[in-house]
Amino acid sequence: MAVNMREPIESGCPDGFQYMHPTSIKNFGQWKYHTHPRPGVLMHEAYSGDRLYTVKCGTQRILDVFTLRTLCDIGDEYADGHIHFTIRSLPEFLVDDEAKVEPLIKALEDAGFIVGGTRNSVAMISHTQGWLHCDIPGTDASGVVKSMMDELIDEFRECNMPNRVHLTTSCCQINCGGQGDIAINVQHTKPPRINHDLVANVCERPSVVARCPVAAIRPAMVNGKNSLEVDEKKCICCGACFPPCPPMQINDAEHSKLAIWVGGNHSNARGKPTFHKLVASGIPNNPPRWPEANAIVKRILKEYKEGARDWERINEWVERIGWPRFFEVTNLPFTKYHIDNWRGSRARLNSSTHIRF
Ligand code: SF4
Ligand code: SF4
Repeated sequence: MAVNMREPIESGCPDGFQYMHPTSIKNFGQWKYHTHPRPGVLMHEAYSGDRLYTVKCGTQRILDVFTLRTLCDIGDEYADGHIHFTIRSLPEFLVDDEAKVEPLIKALEDAGFIVGGTRNSVAMISHTQGWLHCDIPGTDASGVVKSMMDELIDEFRECNMPNRVHLTTSCCQINCGGQGDIAINVQHTKPPRINHDLVANVCERPSVVARCPVAAIRPAMVNGKNSLEVDEKKCICCGACFPPCPPMQINDAEHSKLAIWVGGNHSNARGKPTFHKLVASGIPNNPPRWPEANAIVKRILKEYKEGARDWERINEWVERIGWPRFFEVTNLPFTKYHIDNWRGSRARLNSSTHIRF
């Protein structure tokens, strides 16, 4: 008997070509050079002579439906429907005619969007998933982003930095936001407090034990009930145990702080990628405007802008002047907490293949 096999349902990343601008498809792999006519605009020219203009603008980062519709309407009217989003959630509009660039910029600015974020500007801050998607956050990373970009709006709009500056924020020290020229990350400073009455009812204890990156959690009997205990000498206060076991509360209005890290770079354009290094810790997690963290970031940017040579990234600037000079010019205190070269990581970190999230 003939059997009609069901066709497989393809899922995963769709073919990107169907969404590309016709000029991009026509000249795929055939681009000659690009220029930067003004902040927020790039012009690419192909060997065929075709030109494509990209206009970039800033948003509040997490986009509501109203804002998305507004952006799409502008795209339909001024860019023949060609809009895409960067990894930092910035919309980019593509037009193939120079005459369409200025009306598009005007429409965006009239709607309240800031055109910029290209070349040697402070790019939009990338932040981690935060409360929208993740179960660990110690703060609202997107809130830090909005408050900080409000302060840095002129650095986004202009191209006045020695080189491009990438800022990142992460709402726990797992730091899935990645490496940044300057990173603002939540830092818990006390181990979790366990509500033993609830553990037996709420937690899947093996999951919690497996989740700890330094193997600091053990099953324990407390008051005749199954519970857990934390070896506080081992605990690195990462907060990973809280999601599978909410009675292990680690978020704290006083003891959950912000830390600032400097010099991370994913790129291997001129040197190896680098990890960012801790430069300030114990900064109050002070929503909604995070004034203390903002003040430190602005101080670092000011010194970088004044002290770096043209096209030096922040890590290259620090490498040239040295870390002692960095702490001197930024007036940040250097403490014993700043030294960690990871020589002990093999002994200190749980490298079991059973570690999972
Ligand atoms: S930084 Fe931490 S809390 Fe924030 S989204 Fe990433 S893993 Fe979750
Ligand atoms: S998961 Fe993190 S916070 Fe929880 S006990 Fe282990 S090191 Fe401490």
